[in-house]
Order: sequence, then structure tokens, then C-alpha cells
Amino acid sequence: MFAARNGGLSRKISEYVGRFAPSPTGPLHAGSLVAALSSWLDARAWELSHPGARSSWLVRMEDVDQPRCIPGADRIILQQLADCGLVSDEPPVWQSQRTDRYQAALERLLARGAAYPCACSRKDVAQALAATRAPRPRHGELIYPGTCRHGLKGKSARSWRFATPAAAVLWTDRRLGVQQQHVNAEVGDFVLKRADGCFAYQLAVVVDDADQGVTHVVRGADLADNTPRQLLLQRALKLPTPQYLHTPLVLGADGEKLSKQNGAKPLHTRDPLAALNAAAATLGLPPAVGSVGEALQAWVRAWADCWR
Ligand code: GLU
Repeated sequence: MFAARNGGLSRKISEYVGRFAPSPTGPLHAGSLVAALSSWLDARAWELSHPGARSSWLVRMEDVDQPRCIPGADRIILQQLADCGLVSDEPPVWQSQRTDRYQAALERLLARGAAYPCACSRKDVAQALAATRAPRPRHGELIYPGTCRHGLKGKSARSWRFATPAAAVLWTDRRLGVQQQHVNAEVGDFVLKRADGCFAYQLAVVVDDADQGVTHVVRGADLADNTPRQLLLQRALKLPTPQYLHTPLVLGADGEKLSKQNGAKPLHTRDPLAALNAAAATLGLPPAVGSVGEALQAWVRAWADCWR
């Protein structure tokens, strides 16, 4: 039954399912190793604190935004992870092979009136906003004014958007505590399928987490802001909500989250213990010596003391 419901991703059911979901837009950098390590430690620490229980840690290649992906980066990422002793418990999944599942979810949302086609280009959105006293762009993204919410008025659909409900979304992060976001006012009706035909990260991640039976999401704090959109999609699609833990970030010289744009260099895993120790320090874990395996085991115990 599980295999039939989850779009062909079949496996034994674990009590804890975690995942690391890199976008193969380049090799891993120091910041992405923090997300990989923390999600792996959380899965393994679960077994320590639940004797007899089984956890799974999965790797999912988030290559849904094909134009941004770099050929071969997925292979390099898997090698970097393996060098650091972080190996997926199941064969990795590539989002680019799962577009049927995203389309099916979009159709369910459309059938429930929770999504709608949109004819607006970026220019149309900017012009509509300029004509009103609309809120300023958020992270450079224009907050959609809802032009097509009640119909295309004879125009052709370019993209598909989620009809965000008016109520605020409240949720509790394991590290950050109670969080709140008025998605409708602060983000607006966000895109589910873009004009170039690519499905948006928000929809893909929700469908994948549910299909893979993910119970715990551990990822960088830069993504905390996306969680309310994902909660809304889970509710609209009647999917379960995992527990979330958003970890501290590695910052670049400009004080922003480390990224390729602000000089993140590809992670060198010739000395995996050095790379892992740097990631562990960001997570507040003590330095470790010995082999990679010994270091990981020491951090699993420390993580279990802290987070379990
Ligand atoms: N693919 C996203 C990234 O690399 C992570 C998504 C997630 O963990 O939900 O930033």
C-alpha cells in the first residue's frame, strides 16, 4: 500500500525518516555540509534515544530547477558526502524524475480550488504593484497582488499559483521555538509551476517529503522562512507535517548565509575530518579526533544529549 501511495518510492517503513536535500547547482560547500551532518546526526541520535527503533537518512537531489543545475554536480556531492562518511540509507532520488507526482499534486490543488492559473508576467506584476500602495518586495520577490485569483479574463495561463489563506500560520521549530508568518500578506500567492514549465521548490519538497515518509526535517535556518508555505501545502494536500529543526548557518564575509554568490568555495574532502570539524563547530559540537567513523559516533552521542 505504501508503495502504491507514494509514487513508486517503496521501502520498509522506519519510525524516523530524515533527509538531506541538496540542489546540484554546484559541489557542496561548508554551509551545505552543516545541513548534511546535522540531518544525519539527528537520524542516528534517534536510534540511540529509542533503543530498538530504526531510523533512515535519505539523500534527495533537488534538481527540479533544471536551468540552475550543473551537470555532474550530483555525482560530486554524493562523493563528498561519502568521503565524510554520510551515505544515504537508500538509493538517492532525483526530483527531475518525479514531475508526474508534482503535476498530480497540482491537479489535486486545482480541483480543490486551492491553486489557480495565472497569466501575469513579472512585468505585469510590477506594473500592478506600482499602481497600488502595495508592500515592498520581499527578498527581491514581488508579492503577487492576486490579479488572476478570480479568473484569467480571457488571457492564457503562464504559471500556476497557490491561493494562500488569510489566517497566519503558526508552527514550532525544535530550535527556534514558536514561529508565525502571515503568508498571505508577507509572501502572497506563491508560484507552484513556473512559466518555463518547472515545478517550484515549495511544491516539490512537500510532495517528496510526504512520498518518502519524512518525519523529521533538519536543514539550515535560511529555509525556516519557507516552512509556513510548505505547511499550507501539506494541509491543502492532506499530507502529514514533519517535525522541523532549522540549524545555525555558516556566514560569508558579508554576514549573509554562505553561498556561491558570496564566495563559498567547494568543500575539499581530502581531509574529511577537518571539514566535518568545521561543520560540527557551527552546530556547537565539540571538536573530534580519530577516524571519521569515531568522530561521527562521538557527535551522535553529543547530539542525542542536546536534541533528544
Ligand atoms: N534544496 C534546498 C537547498 O539546497 C534544500 C531544501 C530543503 O532541505 O528543504 O537549499
